[in-house]
Amino acid sequence: MENLLKKLNNFYEKLDLYLQSSKKDCGVCGECCKITSVLYVHPLEMENIGRQVNNSVKMKRFRDFTDNDLIDIWGGKSGHCPFQEGDLCGIYAFRPYQCRVYGHYDYKGRSLPVRCVYRGHAVRYDSREELPLYAEFTALTEGYDILLRESAGLNTNPPPG
Ligand code: SF4
Ligand code: SF4
Repeated sequence: MENLLKKLNNFYEKLDLYLQSSKKDCGVCGECCKITSVLYVHPLEMENIGRQVNNSVKMKRFRDFTDNDLIDIWGGKSGHCPFQEGDLCGIYAFRPYQCRVYGHYDYKGRSLPVRCVYRGHAVRYDSREELPLYAEFTALTEGYDILLRESAGLNTNPPPG
């Protein structure tokens, strides 16, 4: 697991470098972190964030946010990611893949808020496979899924003797 998490964080650095080539900096308006749409976060990324944050209440809120359960938590249709601090991301170094590519890439060309600086400049995508370095990201997440299956298998083995 440690090795996989290290690889994930190395991958994030590589992805950020790759995205710098878009030559457009985020406007830091914070709008995208207030949207109550589904945010895809793989369990490997949840594990990574959870270890850094070490706050079960915030992690529960984050899971609900990513599952679009905000209405139950905040009592209204608007809300924001529990890791948003002002207009900034409080877990910037560990933010998930989808938060990193958001803005640079625009789902079906219509997912960006009106104020977003990337509007009109983003790359349209219609499926996740079109996102940058996605095959590499998938290899990491599959590694995690295999690890989970293996440890589940080990745990169900009868004790020796
Ligand atoms: S993790 Fe950070 S970038 Fe992603 S939605 Fe939350 S505050 Fe925004
Ligand atoms: S809406 Fe666009 S400009 Fe604003 S924080 Fe999100 S990515 Fe950056």
